Amino acid sequence: MAEKLALVGIGKIARDQHIPAIAGNPDWLLEAAVSRHAAVDGIDNFATLDDVLENRPDIGTVSLAIPPQPRFDYAARALKAGKHVLLEKPPGQSLAECFTLEALAREHGVTLFATWHSRYADSVPRLKAWLAERRLKRLKITWKEDVRRWHPGQEWIWEPGGMGVFDPGINALSILTEILPYPVHVSQSLLEFPENRATPIAAQLTFADPDGADMSAEFDWRQQGPQTWDIEMETDRGSAKLSMGGEWLEIDGATVIQGSNHEYANLYARMADLVRTGASDVDLSPMIHVCDAFSLGRRVTTDAFEF
Ligand code: NAP
Repeated sequence: MAEKLALVGIGKIARDQHIPAIAGNPDWLLEAAVSRHAAVDGIDNFATLDDVLENRPDIGTVSLAIPPQPRFDYAARALKAGKHVLLEKPPGQSLAECFTLEALAREHGVTLFATWHSRYADSVPRLKAWLAERRLKRLKITWKEDVRRWHPGQEWIWEPGGMGVFDPGINALSILTEILPYPVHVSQSLLEFPENRATPIAAQLTFADPDGADMSAEFDWRQQGPQTWDIEMETDRGSAKLSMGGEWLEIDGATVIQGSNHEYANLYARMADLVRTGASDVDLSPMIHVCDAFSLGRRVTTDAFEF
């Protein structure tokens, strides 16, 4: 039988991805939306999560598509009420929040899924399998986009906990931590903060690879013209390039996956499996890299940013 679900935060990602992915999966029934401003046709609409908990006790799962800063309070309330919870990325604004949510999910015997949508691109398992049989020599992440185009008017990304350029950058780190056969750690970080903002507009990271591979990442929100979401790698037996955030994959110069995007469909299918099997999935490794980038970061002040 399909699981009933409430979606919290009817913003950009809820409309672009969550609502269509839920509608396309027979394991889920979208029964309620929680929004301070918007409404979704054909279902119950509530102003607060407490209204859902009170009026629709039959809904067993809550999906949180709100920014990271308010997310902990919503997630904690839902878990304490015995609901399964799906968290948009990043799973919180701090690691300690995520540890607390994990403990709450265990205590209340419910599923917690800290999602990393980029890991659910069709190219990622393919690339992981390819890399598992090779020795990595070099890996370069280039994630450069125009913040005005992709985050128009989103003030929360510039506030503490909003992560700045790591909001998209953590997607690359979620792919990195999924495809590598071993853990790496950030060894150097350079962060550029606009003089009027609390989060970085650009970042350069170097990683220490236990096997000696040259590994780095460049994130920038000031990219005009073509946008770049690439991970390039060279190994002892060939090269690979993932582009468009995972929609395209080239191996040794030949395109093996092109224009494929089933991330949110795959992600809601995974949530259904987790609920069915009574499991949780909380991998904080991409978040650890971001937190380390902040703690190791040499900070440079750059031009003020206005939308
Ligand atoms: P958004 O449109 O700015 O915000 C989403 C919704 O969250 C808002 O429409 C609002 O919904 C609610 N909200 C905002 N501030 C809130 C607050 N202080 N308290 C309670 N609710 C609040 O953001 P978004 O782009 O959808 O991103 C939301 C999350 O999805 C972020 O963590 C982001 O990293 C992730 N994400 C975004 C994208 C993307 O392409 N935009 C892609 C993947 C993942 P109501 O007005 O309905 O209350």
